[in-house]
Amino acid sequence: MSVKVYSMPRGGIAFEDPFAPREFETAFLPVLSVIPLIQHTGNKAYPIVFIGEYVKEGMLIGRGQGAGSANVHATVPGKVVRMASWKTIDGVANEALIVRLEGSFDRLGKRETPHPWEDLPSFEIQRLVAEYGVVEMDEGGRPLADLFAELNMVTGPITLVVRCVFDDPWLAADMALCDRRLKDVVEGAFIAARACKASRIVYVVSKNENKRALQFTAAASQQPLAQKIPSDSVVVGNKYPQRNRRELELALRAYEEDTKSERNDMGRLFIVGPATIAAIFDAVKFRKPILDRYVAVGGSAVKEPKVLKVRIGTRLRDVFDQCGGFISAPERIVIGSPLSGRAILDIDEPVVKTIYAAAALKKRQVGGTVERSCIGCGECRSVCPIGLDPEELFKRCKTGGALAERECHGCGSCEAVCPSRLPLKTIIYEAQVNRRPV
Ligand code: SF4
Ligand code: SF4
Repeated sequence: MSVKVYSMPRGGIAFEDPFAPREFETAFLPVLSVIPLIQHTGNKAYPIVFIGEYVKEGMLIGRGQGAGSANVHATVPGKVVRMASWKTIDGVANEALIVRLEGSFDRLGKRETPHPWEDLPSFEIQRLVAEYGVVEMDEGGRPLADLFAELNMVTGPITLVVRCVFDDPWLAADMALCDRRLKDVVEGAFIAARACKASRIVYVVSKNENKRALQFTAAASQQPLAQKIPSDSVVVGNKYPQRNRRELELALRAYEEDTKSERNDMGRLFIVGPATIAAIFDAVKFRKPILDRYVAVGGSAVKEPKVLKVRIGTRLRDVFDQCGGFISAPERIVIGSPLSGRAILDIDEPVVKTIYAAAALKKRQVGGTVERSCIGCGECRSVCPIGLDPEELFKRCKTGGALAERECHGCGSCEAVCPSRLPLKTIIYEAQVNRRPV
């Protein structure tokens, strides 16, 4: 039976990258862990341990301070040896507790006791996700407890959308997680639906992942709350950036329109990735903070690209070492996908909850470093998903002119296709973020 594919209405690129990883491996435990007090978009946690103090695996070491802040936990047992501070490339100040590995693990390799959650009220699930420091595990990174509280104020229906859209090979970590923990993701989705009072769950998968759509539907039908909270799967196109919130919502609204005779309105869409859902599952079912995450590590400068299961707090230097180190000194190291990620200044920055990929790039893989003249080919216009004219905007940014009324989303599609290798997204998006001439 053919399945209808819902795609974003315009633009996008088929994004392939031979330097993105495919193989999976569990990373070594770091001797020194750098555990930042901010690991998401928001406010710093307050450190509650002293230099010289011994901490246990999973112990609370930084307490969130109200809305926008999240608890931070030790990811390895050991001694807190010092505090470090640095600024990211965007000028954001951060602080971290450095823990030297010592002593035994309380959770790693141990059988864990599951806790029933089906009868927990919404506020208790919110309390647990706050206690265990769960935040969105990709871009955004807002604390889940804040999001649940906001959704509890919504009066109409809510649909929980589990986004398993792999339009970018740098989402290999989410793919590996779905391969290994699909049942946990499904159970986690029911927990999240309870917390935000969603009346429906939709699993969204890319068109090359049809099999996974069936697996989600089958696993959801086995859940005790399956009758109360119906689930279905929707197949979307796999052009990048189909997974972006706006593009995904457009595709889902088209699906809603097609199915309105047999299904209720979706109402407000609460879109989350599989890593976030797995973290909710761990927090509520096993009372476990986020201790590790899957990270796609690769790029043209890396000897053996791999998807690694990495402890939070592991320095990127150690992560790249686990992948055989560098072929040659990288021109740029990027957190996230090379198309849309942010460059880092220091290879000793650690893996945090929101990092799903790390790429070390040789010069030839870094777009826009050598500027040539625009040849007027129009490629950038044809791929922009929101219908902007990147060539024109680029010129305006350079001359200090006004930007467009519609916001650039920084997807990087225009920059990826530009034959003149102009840094289109880099300049346009930066100008917007810095609120240069509007
Ligand atoms: S102008 Fe912005 S939104 Fe359009 S393709 Fe470029 S980066 Fe993406
Ligand atoms: S893709 Fe590059 S060369 Fe082609 S029109 Fe756009 S800016 Fe000019």
